Amino acid sequence: LSVRQLEEARRALAAPLFADVAGDIAVSFEFFPPKSDKMAETLWQSVETLAPLNPRFVSVTYGAGGSTRERTHATVERIARETSIPAAAHLTCVEASREEIDAVADAYWQAGVRHIVALRGDMPTSGTPYAVHPGGYENAATLVAGLRQLHPFEISVAAYPECHPDSPHATADLDNLKRKLDAGATRAITQFFHEAETFFRFRDAATAAGIDAEIVPGIMPVMNFASVKRMSTMCGTAVPAWLEKLFAGLDDLPAARQLVAATVAAELCRRLYAGGVRQFHFYTLNRAELSYAICHLLGVRPQGSAMEQAA
Ligand code: FAD
Repeated sequence: LSVRQLEEARRALAAPLFADVAGDIAVSFEFFPPKSDKMAETLWQSVETLAPLNPRFVSVTYGAGGSTRERTHATVERIARETSIPAAAHLTCVEASREEIDAVADAYWQAGVRHIVALRGDMPTSGTPYAVHPGGYENAATLVAGLRQLHPFEISVAAYPECHPDSPHATADLDNLKRKLDAGATRAITQFFHEAETFFRFRDAATAAGIDAEIVPGIMPVMNFASVKRMSTMCGTAVPAWLEKLFAGLDDLPAARQLVAATVAAELCRRLYAGGVRQFHFYTLNRAELSYAICHLLGVRPQGSAMEQAA
């Protein structure tokens, strides 16, 4: 452990529960495009609940292989039209030519969307090794460079505190992150992780590799342990034994599970805050309650309705 990590760990443990948050936190929220009217209603209720927390931006994911192109666009456009929250569109380059990607990005620009979360994506068939589309962008770094040439977008990219599964080692993964930032991205948002120390180690390594861009931790409140465990396995996120133990026996107790989930995620955020983190990105899975509760504990309060401001 570095001296700084030890210092952070000490401070994290010493900090009284949420008593010293100073109202200096900025948050953002991620949604996915709804598949049905019912899901659209849930999503929109979540946007309405979270909007008054004045997020820096909200982002909308892009389904595997571009499968949600229209729905992502419609969702981002609706947020941009009906709220005053800056909306960011995720865009992947897998399975598409440069012309197709450029056309999607151009349509976003014409619709007033100024922020893209630029990603490589994965092959639609899980487990299939990544193959560059003939005439497509090779990876997220070349996509960032392409977007930069197209319009002056704000660009966020993905970062992996526990290393991307396709990466031979952590150093190669950090080099890749640096290429994305050097190509013109302004911030990295991390894959979710379960322990604050994982983030601190990654942040230290990024600093040592000469990365000085903002690295925002992606927070995934555990709404359903089995599915978070499955996702963790797929993306190379370690699931600590203590986490499994905490959720054991709660399968049929949704209310208790939600309280435990909020406590666990809030404690992770509190430790990150004690270690100097001031920006948080929440994977909401289109549900507002947990993210709202955690933000509240972090001192993030309603600031007038971002929905009304747009009206
Ligand atoms: P890249 O940064 O291009 O790299 C992926 C891996 O390939 C890295 O390990 C890198 O080291 C390696 N690599 C890249 N280029 C080279 C090279 N030239 N030579 C050797 N190795 C190389 N997926 C979706 O489908 N839709 C989404 O909306 C979405 N949103 C996401 C949001 C966040 C915040 C995160 C963290 C992930 C998201 N993902 C999404 C998942 C993401 O698409 C996958 O993790 C994907 O496998 C990698 O995308 P990337 O942009 O990180 O790829």
